[in-house]
Amino acid sequence: TAPARPAGTVDVKHMKWWGWGVEGVGFRHEDKPAFAPFVEKAIGLDLRQAASTARPDFADLKVPDSRAPEKFVDALGEIVGDGNVVVDDMARVVHTYGKSLRDLVRVRAGEIARTPDVVVYPADEAEVRAVVDTAVDLDAVIIPFGGGSNIAGSLEPHADEDRVVVSLDLGRLRRVLDIDTDSGTARIQAGALGPDLEAQLNEAGWTLGHFPDSFTHSTLGGWVATRSSGMQSDKYGDIADIVRGLRVVRPGGVLVIRPVPSASTGPSVREMVVGSEGRLGVITEVTAQVHRLPEKRDIYAYFFKNLDHGLAAMREIAESDAAPSVTRISDANETGFSLATGKEAKGIAKAAQAGLMAFLKKRGWNLDEMCLSFIGFEGGAAHAKRQKAIVDRIVRRHHGLGVGKGPGALYDQKKFDTPYIRDFLLDRGAAGDVSETAAPWSKLRQVHAEAYRAAHDAFGRIGRRGWIMSHLSHSYHSGACLYFTFAFVFGDDPLGEYDTVKRAVQQAFIDAGGTLSHHHGVGLEHARWLEQDISPQGVTVLSGLLAAADPGGNFNPRKIV
Ligand code: FAD
Repeated sequence: TAPARPAGTVDVKHMKWWGWGVEGVGFRHEDKPAFAPFVEKAIGLDLRQAASTARPDFADLKVPDSRAPEKFVDALGEIVGDGNVVVDDMARVVHTYGKSLRDLVRVRAGEIARTPDVVVYPADEAEVRAVVDTAVDLDAVIIPFGGGSNIAGSLEPHADEDRVVVSLDLGRLRRVLDIDTDSGTARIQAGALGPDLEAQLNEAGWTLGHFPDSFTHSTLGGWVATRSSGMQSDKYGDIADIVRGLRVVRPGGVLVIRPVPSASTGPSVREMVVGSEGRLGVITEVTAQVHRLPEKRDIYAYFFKNLDHGLAAMREIAESDAAPSVTRISDANETGFSLATGKEAKGIAKAAQAGLMAFLKKRGWNLDEMCLSFIGFEGGAAHAKRQKAIVDRIVRRHHGLGVGKGPGALYDQKKFDTPYIRDFLLDRGAAGDVSETAAPWSKLRQVHAEAYRAAHDAFGRIGRRGWIMSHLSHSYHSGACLYFTFAFVFGDDPLGEYDTVKRAVQQAFIDAGGTLSHHHGVGLEHARWLEQDISPQGVTVLSGLLAAADPGGNFNPRKIV
C-alpha cells in the first residue's frame, strides 16, 4: 500500500480535474445575445435554465488507492527529490485522463477505474533516465504526461492493469536550451507549454509557429507524440514537419536523432517517434525549426456564397503561388454558429453588419448558405501584400467578398477561449465534441456530405435533435483537413449516445476516403479504425515495431495498437 505522503510541492500547473483550462475561467453567453436562441434551435437546449448537471465535489470521488510500494516511491524520491513524487488523489486523478468528451463525462460522473499510482516530476534528462530505469526494473508501466490535453484517450491506464503505473510528468523540463541562429533551429525541452516556449523564443526574436487551439495547455513533447497541427500550419507545417532532432529516453539509453535538414536513412526513426504517444519512450528534448518573428501578421475575413465556391477557392489558393499562413473556411452551419457567438454589435459596427447582410441579399445570396473564411498572411510587408493580392484575385473569381481584418482579429483573440464551451454544455447536460480528418481535394466534398449524413442518421438512432458543423482548417497541395463539431442534449445513456454519433462520423471519414484523424492521434479512441486506415499489413508492421522496441510493454501499453 502507498505511504501517506503530503501533496507534492511541485511548481507545475495543471488544468481543472473536471474540465478545460484554469479554475475561475469559463464560457459566458449573457453578452452574446444570439447564442441562446441559436443553441435552442440547434439542439433544443434552453439556456435560460440554470446549469443542471452538478459537478461532484472532489471529496466525493472514489479514487482507487495507489498501489505503488513504499520502497519504490522512496526510490523515485531519491532520484527527483521527495517533493517531486506525488501520490495524492488529486494529482493522480489529474494525470488519469486527457480532455476528450469520454474522459470528461467519466471523471464528472466519478468513474475512475484506474489511476496512475504515482506521479513523478523529473527536472532533467538524467533524472528521466533514472526514473525510467528504476520503473522498468520493477516492471512498472510508464505513461509520459505533457499537458493532459489530448482527446484520443492517449493517457488513461488500462482498467485491468495490475502493474504499478507511473505518470511521468515533463512539466519541469520547460526551457529553450539553445537557438542555432544560422540554421533556424532551437533545442527545446519537451515539457514546455506553448506560451512558455513562445515567450522564450519571442524574447530572442523567434517563433515556433505552432499554435493548436489547445496551445495554452499542451506541450511540445505532447505535440510531437500526437502528430499535432497548429492553426498556422499552412506556413510553418504540422509538428511532423517542424521536428528536426529528438532525444528519447528508453531503458538503458537515449535514442538520439540529430538535427539535420533531411536524411535518406529510412525507414525514418524520427517519423516513428512522431505520433508514438509515449509507446517508444519519453521525449525529453526536441530540436525544432524556428522562424524569425514576422514583420506582419494579419488575418483577413472573406464571405463565400456557399461551401462549393469556398472550397474551390481554397483548393485554387493551395495550387497557386500564394502561401498564406492560414486557410480556413467554415461551412454554413459553422458560419451561423460563429455569428451567434459574437458579442452584441453597437453603433457603427451594428449598422455596418446590417448593411453587409442587406448587400449580400441584394446580390442574390441565401444567407443560410453563406460561408465565412479566414485567410492569414505572415512575413515581410511586401511578401504579405503580394500574397494577399494573389488570394484576393482567387476569391473574386469564386464570387467571394473580403470584409477586412476586424473579424479575423476577433477570431484570433477568441480561439483559445472556444474550448471552454464544451464544459458549459456539459454543465447543462449536453455534449459538444469534435472529429477531424484529412482527405484529397477530389474527395473533400464527399467526406463532408457523408459525415453530415452519418451524424444525422446517428442522431435519429439515438432519438436526439443533433447539430453538426464543420470547417476546413489546414490546406495541403493534395488535400485538406476537415474538422467537424457535433452537439446534442444527452438522454439516459450519455456515453452510449456519444459512441453512436462519434463512431458514425469516424466511419464515414474512412468510407469516403479520409483518414481516421488529421491531428488528434490514435490513442484508444481511434484505434478501432487503424486497420481500415493503414491496412492489416500496416498494423502488423506497427505492432511488430512496438513489440520489439518495448518487449515488456512498459511504455503506455495498448495505445494505438
Ligand atoms: P498529453 O495529453 O499530456 O499526452 C498525449 C500523448 O502524448 C500521451 O500518449 C502521452 O503519453 C504522450 N506524451 C506527452 N508528452 C510526451 C513526451 N514528452 N514523451 C513521450 N510521450 C509523450 N491538437 C492539435 O493538434 N491541434 C489543435 O488545434 C488542437 N486543439 C485542441 C483543442 C482542445 C479544446 C482540446 C481539448 C484538444 C486539442 N488538441 C489539438 C489535442 C491536444 O491538445 C493535442 O493532442 C496535444 O498535442 C497534446 O499535447 P499534451 O502536451 O497535452 O499531451
